Amino acid sequence: MARIRLDHIRHAYSPELAKAGNYALREVDTAFEDGGAYALLGPSGCGKTTLLNIISGLLTPSDGHVRFDDRDVTMLTPEARNIAQVFQFPVIYDTMTVRENLAFPLKNRKVPKAEIATRVDDMLRRIGLAAKADRKARGLTADEKQKISLGRGLVRSDVAAILFDEPLTVIDPHMKWQLRSELKQLHREFQMTMVYVTHDQTEALTFADKVVVMYDGEVVQIGTPEELFERPQHTFVGYFIGSPGMNVLPCRLEGGEALVSGERIRLPAGLSPARSGRQIELGIRPEFVSLVPRGQGIPVTIEKVEDIGSEKIVRARLGEHRLSAIVGEDRPIPADADVAFSDGRLNLYADSWLVERA
Ligand code: ATP
Repeated sequence: MARIRLDHIRHAYSPELAKAGNYALREVDTAFEDGGAYALLGPSGCGKTTLLNIISGLLTPSDGHVRFDDRDVTMLTPEARNIAQVFQFPVIYDTMTVRENLAFPLKNRKVPKAEIATRVDDMLRRIGLAAKADRKARGLTADEKQKISLGRGLVRSDVAAILFDEPLTVIDPHMKWQLRSELKQLHREFQMTMVYVTHDQTEALTFADKVVVMYDGEVVQIGTPEELFERPQHTFVGYFIGSPGMNVLPCRLEGGEALVSGERIRLPAGLSPARSGRQIELGIRPEFVSLVPRGQGIPVTIEKVEDIGSEKIVRARLGEHRLSAIVGEDRPIPADADVAFSDGRLNLYADSWLVERA
């Protein structure tokens, strides 16, 4: 396995697009540590697949370098980089049996026969296809074929890294959980460097030790699920991680207070008074907004209450701004209420980037 280093990567899909400044990747300068389980997470079109293909060698970047440990692999093919890849749709041999499909990459690498048998049997069990081991792949369902694809990628333990591009899209929801936990288990056992592309935050947060959040051709934050929740470095991370996402309120700082739509929000001590007068954005997660009796907080107009079973999502208005709060299921929601923000949970942003945490 290898440490993957992406050095000042930029990519435009044609010289014309480059000339127009239209880059699918604008500046990616980051590293994936040896043996780490990473998810590349972001909305459709943010550049996840482009970045994955640059790591694998399916695509050569317009600028920058890809390094595996200290070796510059920018111009090498995927085979020469020794990468295993699992795509959104199955890539398998239809005329071979399930067992033969899994054994194929090992035979190619001249792994001893007895070891192939043991590893293939183990993988068949993990992907839930032991009972169909000797069936031709052709007759299997799309779901089962994708499990073979996963097995073929995972059965190789000698690769520099395993890359997954939305591999569970065609798998049914119940099986998704099982395969994801098998992936985690395999990662724990073999400490393989894994990079997993998804636009589904649950998938990313449950699979990865570190989540790489991408937005508009850039990596905006790399962190553990907890870090992304607790300390979003960019307002986009705040919106994108969490359900509903973080509230972001434009405000002006004045002394120890933030002015939002004429209302004054007292900020916890510790914020630099030098910031007075500055236009800024105040970020607070709905989990840290509570409803308090009128007169005890900041007055809001409650517009809607969504009951999601274990809790309620309160949608409110603060002047011209929208605000969400998550409250316990058993709490009655008054018709008129104020909101209060938990101390120590406020994030201050300038130009969308975190400048201070109060
Ligand atoms: P998705 O989740 O929808 O697959 P993504 O985050 O993987 O999205 P990419 O597929 O990497 O995003 O695309 C990044 C940008 O590059 C998008 O604006 C896309 O339209 C553009 N793009 C992707 N492939 C090509 C191509 N072959 N030619 C031109 N533009 C492309």
